[in-house]
Amino acid sequence: VTGDSRADAASAAQTAPAASQGTLFIVAAPSGAGKSTLVNALLERDPGISLSISHTTRPPRPGEQYGRHYFFVDRERFEREIAEGVFLEHAEVHGNLYGTSRRVVEGLLAEGRDVLLEIDWQGARQVRAVMPDCVSVFILPPSRAELERRLRGRGADAPEVIERRLRNSREEIAHAQEFDYIIVNDRFEDALADLQAIVRAVRLRTALQWRRHQALIAELLAP
Ligand code: 5GP
Repeated sequence: VTGDSRADAASAAQTAPAASQGTLFIVAAPSGAGKSTLVNALLERDPGISLSISHTTRPPRPGEQYGRHYFFVDRERFEREIAEGVFLEHAEVHGNLYGTSRRVVEGLLAEGRDVLLEIDWQGARQVRAVMPDCVSVFILPPSRAELERRLRGRGADAPEVIERRLRNSREEIAHAQEFDYIIVNDRFEDALADLQAIVRAVRLRTALQWRRHQALIAELLAP
């Protein structure tokens, strides 16, 4: 190590901003892959991640609460809010509109919190275009039969809604290659460990670690 590179490194460590932005995680999957169960388990174990609550025109399922599962709104209001630029991304999925609040996500990230979006491939594309540092994960079911079994077993949707979601699953899966990571959700505990491993590795990326540990780096590089 030359004296110069040591001085460069030490000054880089001192001039980097103290507070760092959080990371934006996207998780997508076809309906029935077990995405929400996995995400909820991750959130329970990792208080550093905030889930973004989406807006939707879909009617609530039994037990779903306004503001906890979704902000349920009518189509007229949703379309007005699209025009007003309220959404970071929005898409029509299975015949309903879904969207992510730009203000909430940007606010949480600015506070240094990691934020997770449970959105479809169309929304993921829009987010990647404006926030290229986001990290996207796609969840696959272990087989077509298992996807069907899980979707029907949920018992929350009408038969025609289930059929529609099954038909649409191919389209969603066809975009899995656009994502940074793919997890096959066969054994739940393994899939959860995979998801946690991704989050953990992302938090160890040099760009983040360098800012987080600037005092340490300055100390280690001091003459
Ligand atoms: P569900 O109706 O089962 O809650 O969600 C249906 C689909 O809509 C899922 O694929 C889910 O990821 C997607 N979705 C939920 N919220 C959003 C959102 O805010 N934006 C986009 N683009 N998709 C969403």
